[in-house]
Amino acid sequence: MKVRPAVAAMEQYHPPLEGRTERDYLLLDFSESTQPPSPAVTAALQAYLATGKVRMYPAEGPLREKLAAYVGVQPGQVLPTNGSDSAIQLILHALLEPGDEMIMAKPGFFVILSTALSIGAKAISPLYKADMSFPFDDVQAAVTSKTRLIVIVSPNNPTGTSASQEQIEAILKQNSKIPVYVDEAYYEFSGQTAVPLLAKYDNLVISRTFSKAMAMAGLRFGYAVGRADFIAQIEKLRIPYDVNALAVVGAEASLDHPAPWQAYVREVMQDAKPMVERFLREHGIPFFPSDANFLLVRSQDVGGIAAYFKSRDILVRPQRPPVGDCFRVSIGTVAEMRGFLQIYAEYLQHAGAAA
Ligand code: PMP
Repeated sequence: MKVRPAVAAMEQYHPPLEGRTERDYLLLDFSESTQPPSPAVTAALQAYLATGKVRMYPAEGPLREKLAAYVGVQPGQVLPTNGSDSAIQLILHALLEPGDEMIMAKPGFFVILSTALSIGAKAISPLYKADMSFPFDDVQAAVTSKTRLIVIVSPNNPTGTSASQEQIEAILKQNSKIPVYVDEAYYEFSGQTAVPLLAKYDNLVISRTFSKAMAMAGLRFGYAVGRADFIAQIEKLRIPYDVNALAVVGAEASLDHPAPWQAYVREVMQDAKPMVERFLREHGIPFFPSDANFLLVRSQDVGGIAAYFKSRDILVRPQRPPVGDCFRVSIGTVAEMRGFLQIYAEYLQHAGAAA
């Protein structure tokens, strides 16, 4: 059967998920949380399962109110989705038509790119700077009369770097007729958000996720935040039961009991990441300062180092061009990262001996 040309031209995305559960790996390859969700989340999920209510279609209940209070907006300004991947699809499908141009700096998040391509839109991809900072001038220079969307992933995956609030505001202001979409999947780690700009600019939409700080990647819960009129439009595109009942229960419990994931975020950002950075500096290993729960690290032998870590039961993520000389490593707890650094030191000795 013949599919639309835009679909036929797409590449299949194969995230390297196979075999991740074969052994008790320390999973530092998908920028997930390394720890389980808050105990209250697990308890709420177990309690829900015990009622047998999975027989029912999911209902959102008070979730939107709670989510809106967390974000600091009105309930009509948030839309829960099946992971923020689904928010990406809704936002792009609402805004792009075949032939439109979308600007997103490279390297950027693959799902956004593939969604644009599936629509038949064209991705314009200015390169992140050599120090992996956001290429503000190049993004601005890429705007044409065909630009229908500017995407800013902040912090970006895989660079870990953010666009500053001033840069985001300047892009909103100077392109007031062009929608600007800010992906804030790592917001809880960076602490920086464009949400306050929603009051000032009607061309802004944001997405976030419970997959990272809240440790719910497997449950699939994300959301879009925007002006109420735009959120009502993308809600029309969302399938009615996009968000499953367990995701609703888990998200609500995460919002009701934030202390454990907040403590995890603090440990990752204030203790574990500085410890890893100190090690890298001491060993003269280049890396890029990151606002997220992962680091992009340069290596002369990305395949070799990833294989070595794997042989010691730690998974990291080798990158593709234009950062093919780097691997990405999630930052977990101090104890986990001590283990990671011990194996790293072993690898360096081993690689040094081989050189
Ligand atoms: N945006 C960015 C920048 C990401 O890194 C990810 C996860 N890898 C997502 C969105 C999607 O996350 P999810 O669908 O799990 O919410």
